[in-house]
Amino acid sequence: VRKPMVAGNWKMNGSLALLHTFISELKASPLLDTVLCLPYPYLAAASKASFKVGAQDCSQFGAGAHTGDIAVGMLQELGATYVIVGHSERRQDHNESNIAVALKVQTVLNAGLTPILCVGEPLKVREAGNVNKFVFEQLQAVIDVCSKDFLEKCIIAYEPIWAIGTGKTASPEQAQEVHQFIRTEIVKWNHNAVSTRLLYGGSVNASNAHALFAKPDIDGGLIGGASLKIDDFIAICNAVK
Ligand code: 13P
Repeated sequence: VRKPMVAGNWKMNGSLALLHTFISELKASPLLDTVLCLPYPYLAAASKASFKVGAQDCSQFGAGAHTGDIAVGMLQELGATYVIVGHSERRQDHNESNIAVALKVQTVLNAGLTPILCVGEPLKVREAGNVNKFVFEQLQAVIDVCSKDFLEKCIIAYEPIWAIGTGKTASPEQAQEVHQFIRTEIVKWNHNAVSTRLLYGGSVNASNAHALFAKPDIDGGLIGGASLKIDDFIAICNAVK
């Protein structure tokens, strides 16, 4: 029932020239459900691309005196339909709390865009055996702010922090274990969340994507480094079941 998808997250990388390469190459080889989450300044240039476009963050506010921030309505004007919310790099670099993340999810949903909500534990938490508790609390914070409906309107990305940009991918079994936990919990909150897509992120590449995506509760990936290389990105997109 769940349509698999692959989302690229360029983070603060790339160039307009690289984006133009992606636009023409991906037009030539149409892929299923593909999203590229670009730096803000590149969104307009991708508005007519064959893939869907997302941003990597947005303000929790609709407008106002928030210098340097970007409102979700502005993203919408540029054709973005997805917004990554709560990426661990935002949580770390900008001290985004679970509450702030929840308010952003609400803002994105109210505007009619799809949040890609990121959750995932640091290494210390995994070593202490507290992964499920940690991820549960991240989800609970959003449930407390948003109605349970949100669970069927969002995409959830599980990104263990120790696997991001490190080359240390979670094994398909480790990832599936957490995905299964997330699935069980969100379905308890909202039955329709059985069709919510759960993406794995953290050092996904062209060689490990297939085994990860073959797991029953892994519905695709959120790809960082490998989403900047056109051949790798296409190979990963083609690895979805
Ligand atoms: P890498 O694929 O570079 O590990 O990044 C994952 C990520 O953080 C995607 O949002």
